[in-house]
Formats: sequence, C-alpha cells, structure tokens
Amino acid sequence: MNVYDSTRMADVLAPLGYIQTDDAEAADMVILNTCHIRERAAEKVYSELGRLRLQKEAKKADGGNLVIAVAGCVAQAEGEEVTRRAPWVDMVFGPQAYHNLPDMVQAAARQGGIVNTEFPALPKFDALPDQMLSQGPSAFLTVQEGCDKFCTFCVVPYTRGAEYSRPVADVLAEARRLVASGSVEITLLGQNVNAYHGVGTDGDTWSLGRLIDGLQGVEGLARLRYTTSHPLDMDAELIAAHRDYEILMPYLHLPVQSGSDTVLAAMNRRHRTSDYLRVVDLLREARPDIALSGDFIVGFPGETDADFAATVDLVRRVKYASAYSFKYSPRPGTPAAGLENQVEEAVMVERLAALQDAINAEQAAFNQNTVGSSFDVLLERPGRREGQLTGRSPYNQSVHVNGALSAGLKIGELARVRVDQGLPNSIAATPLVPANAA
Ligand code: SAH
Ligand code: SF4
Repeated sequence: MNVYDSTRMADVLAPLGYIQTDDAEAADMVILNTCHIRERAAEKVYSELGRLRLQKEAKKADGGNLVIAVAGCVAQAEGEEVTRRAPWVDMVFGPQAYHNLPDMVQAAARQGGIVNTEFPALPKFDALPDQMLSQGPSAFLTVQEGCDKFCTFCVVPYTRGAEYSRPVADVLAEARRLVASGSVEITLLGQNVNAYHGVGTDGDTWSLGRLIDGLQGVEGLARLRYTTSHPLDMDAELIAAHRDYEILMPYLHLPVQSGSDTVLAAMNRRHRTSDYLRVVDLLREARPDIALSGDFIVGFPGETDADFAATVDLVRRVKYASAYSFKYSPRPGTPAAGLENQVEEAVMVERLAALQDAINAEQAAFNQNTVGSSFDVLLERPGRREGQLTGRSPYNQSVHVNGALSAGLKIGELARVRVDQGLPNSIAATPLVPANAA
C-alpha cells in the first residue's frame, strides 16, 4: 500500500512541477514513506534523516535547498516527535493527509516544520487528482483502507484509521485509467481488502466479489488479484468468484498468524484453526489449483512449544505455495505489547528458523509440481540472464522466461510458457509459441 501511496504522492506533486527521480542526490525533495508494522521502524527513519541532513546542508551551501518529508505510518505514530528530534525535517504527514501536499509544500517553504497527522472528515481519495503516472504492466489500486479488527499485536487500526471502502464508480474509473496507462494486471489493495463494502453503481452496497465481477468489464484488463484478506471475511460470493471469473488469478494471500487456537484467541483473531481450514477447503473446492500464501507470527506473548508445533503442523496441512513469517514485535500502544509473558528473543529466533524451513519445503514442492505445465506469464522486467524476461505466473510465482527476447516477447505482454524447472523461490520456463509465429 505504501508503493501505491507513493505513486499517488507523485500524482499530487506533478502539477507543482515535481517529477520522480531514481537519483536521491539530485532530488529537490525526498519523502521517506514509512511502515510501522514491525521492529525499529522509527530508528531506521531517524538514521536516514541524519544522512539527509548532510545532503540538505551541502545543497544549502551551494545556494539550493532540499525539502525533507516523513510520510506513512511512522509519521502518523511519531507526529511532532519527528520535528523535535530532527528539526531539519520540513514536513511530517500521515497516510490520510498526503492529498494536502501542495498546501503543505507552500506552508513548509514559509515556516518549515509542518506536521499533519489528522484523519480528515472527508476521505482523501475525494481530494486526490486522477491517477496519471503509469505503474507498468502490473499495478496496485487501493479499494479499501484502515481496519476495525484490532488484533492485539497490530498497529494498523491506530495508524491507518477506521475501515473505509472507495465507491465502485471510483474504482472502475481508476482501473480504466491504469489500463490506458499500460497496466494489464491490477492488484486490489486493502489492509482488510475482503471487508470491502463500497457503494455500487446501482446504489447498493457491493462486496469484494461483486466488485471483481464489475471489474471484469474493464476492457484490456487481463488479470486481477487482491490482498490482504482476513479469514473471517471470505464470504460465499468471494469464494465463488474464484470458481467463476477467469480474470481472477488462482492465488490468495490469506494470513492465519498461528496454528494454535489459544494464541489465535489471545491475538483477538476471532476465528479458530478449524474455521481457517474450512475456508481453505471451500476455496479448493471452488478452484482446485488455487495457490495459497499466508503470514505467520512466531513468539506471540505466551506462545508455548506446543502452540508453535501446531503452527508448523498447519503449514504442512495447508501446503502453502509461499508464506511470510515474522518474529513478534511489540508495537507501542497495542494490547499485546503490555502482556507479561513475552517470549525470549533466542526462542523466537529458533522458532522462526524452524517455521521458515517448513515453509521453504512447501514452496519448493509447489514450484516443483508446476514443472511440465504451461500457462501465461505476465512479463514485467528484464531477467538476470541474457535474453531472459521475468514475470509472474497465475500462481504468483516469479518466472524466468529463457529465450524470451529471441522469441520476440516484450515486457508488458502475456506469454504462454512451459515450465522447465522448479527452484526454491522461482521457476524457469521457455516460451511455447514464439510471438512472431503466433
Ligand atoms: N490485515 C492483514 C495483515 C496486515 S499486517 C491480516 O489481518 O492478516 C501484515 C502482516 O504483518 C500480518 O499479517 C502479520 O503477520 C505481520 N504483523 C503485524 N503486526 C505484527 C507485529 N506486531 N509483530 C510481528 N508481525 C506483525
Ligand atoms: Fe492488523 Fe490485519 Fe488484524 Fe486489522 S485484521 S488489526 S490489519 S492484523
């Protein structure tokens, strides 16, 4: 979502004459768009700000200036603390305030030290200009933001605020603009994307399943994905969408966090392992080849060896195509941070390694199982080897297409390939029909 927000900040700044650059040294403005979900995010920001201070002083000595901004959830959580600790920062603003960038830039030029961490009464989306900059073949589109679930470890409800769903008409219009700017695939984004309940084009409230149905009509759009989903919000309409809509890729990121019901209850996830496994069964009935991924937290306060063993067990049962796992990180202000039975770091390190071994084994097996099959790959970037292009399979695997250039294939195309080799984190494939002969 921060990647999406950053492209929208660039849209907001374009009328002021700013263009994006990859060269930080040459920049007139640097925005650190930060994430607060885990670990010492704030400390990383302050050390980066120390470096930027030197760059600003050097520019000033040459008669120029460097505008420095801190955006995102660290900005939201830290607020004025940022300008106290780093007075050379010109702007601090949260994820719900960046539509005000033009005003903030002006005010910062006059007085500096602007802090805006408000949750505006009107959604920022209403005030944002239309998306203008291309995101390339695969684009993000935020349809839902914020979260009302309050898992006890999570900072999102405090930094991103309450749940909000964008109206269907806005989503459709943005999807058309993304396609017009060269995107073939769209990933619908939300902290709790499947809790989506936006005003439909008919005035009714539309679920995510219905929104996906609506998006099928967008001409030139070939692929849809959505992330991140909560198991409780996988309703029948959305599960059926995986059976009925070809545009919806057979891949789902469905975090469960833990395989222990005791830990799930302490996390306030509001579902048990059995509920999760039932959703997985229903998804596989609807779409037998669906690839599943997940998120796991090890070392949540009070997690015992038996709780952890249940998590590893769940990983083996679900047979994930990929998954992310993290050591529990106490977030200031969240209920779990105050619990007394915190797990020792050494135990967390050990559990994380064991869980990642289990996940890696499942991922390698999944990749190996696709060898010999053929499907379309969306080519997104040059590969590491000569003549190669790299893209994503329907199952969201990273695919290295050998001989793509000599087959006449180009970035942005969907190419039919046959899978030759399964690797730990990716697969290798060859084009099936050279584009120029097709
Ligand atoms: N809304 C999604 C997840 C959003 S946060 C959901 O409910 O599943 C992305 C992931 O970061 C989470 O799934 C979780 O695994 C991890 N995460 C969040 N807070 C964390 C914390 N305090 N410590 C460690 N991992 C955390
Ligand atoms: Fe955080 Fe996801 Fe729980 Fe919401 S549902 S509080 S975003 S982990």
